[in-house]
Amino acid sequence: MTNTNQDKTIAVALMGLPGSGKGTQAIFLLEKLNAVSISVGELVRNALKSYPESEIKSKAEEKYNSGQPVDDDFIMMIIKDEISKYKNRNIVFDNYPFSKNQMVDFKNIMKESKIDKYVALNIEIDQETAMSRIAGRVVCQKCGESFRGLAAGDICPKCNVPLVHRADDKEEVVKNRIIKYIPRIEEISKNFDREGKYIRIDGERTPEEVREEINSKFDKWNI
Ligand SMILES: [Zn+2]
Repeated sequence: MTNTNQDKTIAVALMGLPGSGKGTQAIFLLEKLNAVSISVGELVRNALKSYPESEIKSKAEEKYNSGQPVDDDFIMMIIKDEISKYKNRNIVFDNYPFSKNQMVDFKNIMKESKIDKYVALNIEIDQETAMSRIAGRVVCQKCGESFRGLAAGDICPKCNVPLVHRADDKEEVVKNRIIKYIPRIEEISKNFDREGKYIRIDGERTPEEVREEINSKFDKWNI
């Protein structure tokens, strides 16, 4: 479904804990808004391969290779470059901004790119839901789709190969990831909310119900 009541470019900063169904809703949003997706992780990986050598790049490379987050300056640069490829296209950001500093950058990027309408969309679930959903998740190694309600060893309905638990879905890893996410999401939500640019979605329900809530809230917001 393509949205027709929008007359301006819009950027959506999509947030949600692991297990919130963010990935599924992202696909829906991209289609609904006819948007391009900006995933910082993917951008960084590509930029490290394709950007010409520079001081800022080699610094980023060093951090990336040692498993640390790369500098916000580098991220901001590559996001700006990426946006400049897509004139007048709507954008869905995946988990960006993700810190106070990145929020400041995000707003600057919006201003410079003349994207005057943006919202943060938080698909909210609580910690227990995140844990239990992820613990029950298996993925297909061939097509990458994740399934709930199926077990490791069951067969992917599409590819006919056995499903497995993802390595980074191990309980301790997931718990640490979630604990790190929660305060950041809260801080960013509050900040956007103060500006009147925050949409909260109840992610505790089925993907269809979540999608409907997104639709009805977007209608209200004239997105
Ligand atoms: Zn598959």
